[in-house]
Amino acid sequence: MKNKLNLRLKPKRRLRKPFEGNPPVPGDPLRSTAPAGFNRRVTKKEKTSLAAFLDLAGDYLAGAFRRGHGEYTFNDETPPPDAVPASAGNDAAADGSLEAIAAEVSRCKRCGLCTTRTNTVPGEGVSHPLVMVIGEGPGGDEDATGRPFVGRAGQLLDRMLDSKGKIGLSRTRNCYIANIVKCRPPDNRKPQTDEITACVPFLIRQIRLLKPKVILAAGNTPAKTLLDSTIGITRLRGSFVNFSGMPLMPLEFTVPLLPTFHPSALLRDETLKAPVWEDLKTLRTRLCELDPEYAAQMADIPL
Ligand code: SF4
Repeated sequence: MKNKLNLRLKPKRRLRKPFEGNPPVPGDPLRSTAPAGFNRRVTKKEKTSLAAFLDLAGDYLAGAFRRGHGEYTFNDETPPPDAVPASAGNDAAADGSLEAIAAEVSRCKRCGLCTTRTNTVPGEGVSHPLVMVIGEGPGGDEDATGRPFVGRAGQLLDRMLDSKGKIGLSRTRNCYIANIVKCRPPDNRKPQTDEITACVPFLIRQIRLLKPKVILAAGNTPAKTLLDSTIGITRLRGSFVNFSGMPLMPLEFTVPLLPTFHPSALLRDETLKAPVWEDLKTLRTRLCELDPEYAAQMADIPL
């Protein structure tokens, strides 16, 4: 084909008509006129479900965590001996610097969550912990009391950490418990990115002071936030990662960080207890390597 200037032009490409679905078949409900296959617009909800499915499928392929993992000991409702003591938090409060952070948090208006909170929830536990547990944010019970992990999920966390002495951890003896955001997101929604960005410097300051031997990141939000990752918790969980701070907030030291599921996920899905028990055993093994006193305490307690 040539134009007036005698230049060769490419022939126009004919656009393919998009597939508009199968023709209706009267009386056959399986053959509808709805658009089908890849020509159909995928909804946001479908994309989210597909992403969750792929995340889960990846975990199956990586470790098949839902296979049997033997007995785990936080399954019954019996609380460990000192799960929620009246004095919880006193040890940490004795550290002036942690107390100063808590006071700063109580006045904080850096994000919109300050308008809906009842109490701030800075965290509680011992001031030189073996393990710092980091969750997502306070729920209703935590907002009402100003203490982290005191609702049903919190009670399960206490049982998980102790596991009838097999893991031997507790917020009164050797743990500190905190959250990514210190104020409750309304209706227990996930904290938004701007809220996390505003609040996470408090957490980094707490980590700097506490210098835990290990961080246990409980759930998607803490794992993804601290590791600056888009990978879901089902793939992140179970393996230690070296944590040395966040962009613009580096630490002067490195802490082994173990991602695992949040206890509230276990309350919704019992099958997650098996992989969490595996994670707790991994945690115990690493703590035995890092802390001779803990190793001696665990020496006569079989898993
Ligand atoms: S969530 Fe954190 S940043 Fe937001 S108001 Fe509460 S303490 Fe401040």
